[in-house]
Amino acid sequence: MIIAKTKSMEEIEDMLKDYSRIAVIGCGGCVSFYRVGSAKEVEEVSKNLEKIGKKVVYKGMIARQCYIGTEDELGSLSDEEILKKVSRAIGKAEYDFEAILSLACGVGVQNMSRFLSKPVLPAQNTFFMGIKNMDENKYNEFCIGCGNCILHLTAGICPLARCPKSLLNGSCGGIFKGKCEVDRERDCAWVLIYNRLKAMGKLDNIRRIFEPKDFSKASHTRRIDI
Ligand code: SF4
Ligand code: SF4
Repeated sequence: MIIAKTKSMEEIEDMLKDYSRIAVIGCGGCVSFYRVGSAKEVEEVSKNLEKIGKKVVYKGMIARQCYIGTEDELGSLSDEEILKKVSRAIGKAEYDFEAILSLACGVGVQNMSRFLSKPVLPAQNTFFMGIKNMDENKYNEFCIGCGNCILHLTAGICPLARCPKSLLNGSCGGIFKGKCEVDRERDCAWVLIYNRLKAMGKLDNIRRIFEPKDFSKASHTRRIDI
C-alpha cells in the first residue's frame, strides 16, 4: 500500500488560509488500511477544521481517489455532479465549497485535480510503497518501483527497498548479529534473503551475480503502455 502521514494542523491551516468553506474527502484505497484517509479521519480532521473557524460543508469518502472515472464519464460534469457521482457523503452534504481537502495520497490528489475545477489540497505527506509492522505502529518501505522486479530471485524480499544501500549483491561487511549497519534495529535484507532462500531450498540463487541495475526504468517522469 502507499504509506502516507497526515500533515500537522498548522500546515493544513496554512494551506487553507484563503478558503473558509471546505469539502473534506477521504479515500477508501490503500492509505485508509491504517486509518489515514479513512471515514474516521475525515471526521477528526473536519472537527479540527471547525475548531479553527472553517466551515466543513461537505464530508465524504471516495473508494479510490486515484481512479474516479474517465474523461468521457466526468470531463463535462461540474464539481457538484462529480462528487454526487463518485463520493459517498458522510452526513448532510452541501456543495458550495471553495476548496477540497483530500485525505488521499499524492496520486489521488492529482487525479482529483484533473477533474475538479476547485482547488484540491493535500492533507497527507506521501512517503512510499510499503507495509505496516504487524505488532507496532511502524511502516517499512518494501518497493521503490524499479521497473524490473527480481523478487523471484531474492525469495520475495526486495534488496533495493529493504537494504539502505540498495545492494544487489549483498551483503556488505557491516552486518552485526543479523542486523543492518545503517540501522541496528533493522534486519539485514541480505540475511533475510539468505535465510528464506535456504528454507526454500533455493540457496543457489545467493551465488547469482546481479548486473548493475538499469535505473533508466525508474527515472522520472515515467510512463508505461500496458
Ligand atoms: S525489485 Fe523492483 S519492482 Fe521488485 S519489489 Fe524491488 S523495487 Fe519493487
Ligand atoms: S547490513 Fe545488510 S541491509 Fe544493511 S547496508 Fe549492509 S547489506 Fe544492506
